[in-house]
Amino acid sequence: MEIYKNFINGKWGGTDASMRNINPSDTNDVLGLAVVSDAAQIDAAVNAAREAFTTWSTSPVQLRSRILDITGNEILARREELGQLLAREEGKTVREAIGEVTRAGEIFKFMAGEALRIPGEVLDSTRLGMTVEITREAVGVIGMITPWNFPLAIPAWKTAPALAFGNCVVLKPAELVPASAVALADILHRAGLPDGVFNLVLGKGSIVGQALIEHPGIDAISFTGSQGVGHNIARIAAERMIRCQLEMGGKNPLVVLDDADIDIAVECALDGSFYATGQRCTASSRLIVGAAIHDQFVERLTGRLKALKVGHAFAADTNIGPVVDARQLESNLNYVNIGREQGAELVYGGEHLDCPTPGFYMSPGLFIATDNTMRINQEEVFGPVASVMKATDFDEALALANATRFGLSSGIVTRSLKYASAFKRYSQAGMVMVNAPTAGVDPHVPFGGRKASSYGPREQGRYALEFYTSVKTSYIQP
Ligand code: NAD
Repeated sequence: MEIYKNFINGKWGGTDASMRNINPSDTNDVLGLAVVSDAAQIDAAVNAAREAFTTWSTSPVQLRSRILDITGNEILARREELGQLLAREEGKTVREAIGEVTRAGEIFKFMAGEALRIPGEVLDSTRLGMTVEITREAVGVIGMITPWNFPLAIPAWKTAPALAFGNCVVLKPAELVPASAVALADILHRAGLPDGVFNLVLGKGSIVGQALIEHPGIDAISFTGSQGVGHNIARIAAERMIRCQLEMGGKNPLVVLDDADIDIAVECALDGSFYATGQRCTASSRLIVGAAIHDQFVERLTGRLKALKVGHAFAADTNIGPVVDARQLESNLNYVNIGREQGAELVYGGEHLDCPTPGFYMSPGLFIATDNTMRINQEEVFGPVASVMKATDFDEALALANATRFGLSSGIVTRSLKYASAFKRYSQAGMVMVNAPTAGVDPHVPFGGRKASSYGPREQGRYALEFYTSVKTSYIQP
């Protein structure tokens, strides 16, 4: 059995390996045991990162670029094997997991280029003969806290820009997915990253996560996870006056107008709401459908749901893998009950399933006759459950889409350029999709939301520079 250890100052360590890493597709399959760390390991990791920072932040950009490129190449070369590991520990299908691994590799390759393109400006001063230079420098030691639903891609999209721009990293991944984070640490180390630049500490959020955000040696925090934990991090970061970047939940709407191509609408809903077991922050959990197309849409979507195979992440015919763990499954089923109790009509699924292997399986659930005040339309379920709301026209659909405290992604399916353009302009979301699922984004452009979904500068693409660098303005009189 594998033992997943901490990686601090270039060395693997940690002794209390008692946290079991269980395959959600088959609970008899234990991948390994992860060490359960405490504040002392966070202290060691932050100190190592601080020690490494001066040299790393002033290292040649070519060195940083090369290490990121080697890392990306190895991830891409091993995409099948790493995809299987990821599917085994998180439960998404192998096809989805390979997609995630590919994305992680591509992010490292993209950021290898960005390391060579750190922008600056030179201007004439308003004072005669003087020049003004605007440059960007690394921020320092970045504390990173990541969720379980993208065990490789999210650590990758935080780590790659942090390293590209000369920062050092202490990563605390989610308890449920230590193996993917350990694989990443190993690849970075063998790619030639100097000791202390990237550190990994495994353990519980309430202990090591909390110790990380409170550590005085941290200069910034990048967090992805639930709204409640993010809120606490923002408070602590504000008290300490350090920067933070928070990516949190969503309650993303997909609007289907009466003029929509029904095939596109059904495929967008199927993919956005249910693939990856609905465990995506960008999942479309609210389907806002025109009254004239409503019945046809519901019938066609239900037909597609019936044909989906829920099963083991490794089975070739599986469309939807298991839920990540028992707690999340219980929470999803509880939301199905809440929906029913509040008067929504469950037209398909939403049930616990028994499969040949013991795992956390449920059928995708679809509600109709829902209204936007119901809890299933206001709270993030984070599972394969979606609800349909009827809208009489575009204005009502847009108002419903925006009537949520979240604002991560949104989508519209329509043949009308007028309505697509208006939706793009007035949707209160950070990412808007036209005739495409609300989930599924590119690696080279900014990712993030508005309202309670996100806080701080955007992640990914060139925009990652905002969070991971600090601006300096220099006045030079020769
Ligand atoms: P979570 O908030 O429970 O945990 C996220 C991370 O925070 C984990 O590593 C956890 O150990 C840590 N943590 C928990 N308590 C902590 C504390 N007190 N102090 C510091 N760290 C602590 O979230 P989760 O269940 O792992 O992930 C699901 C959530 O993540 C959903 O809400 C989903 O929408 C969100 N998510 C958002 C995005 C995005 O980019 N917006 C992407 C993926 C997931």
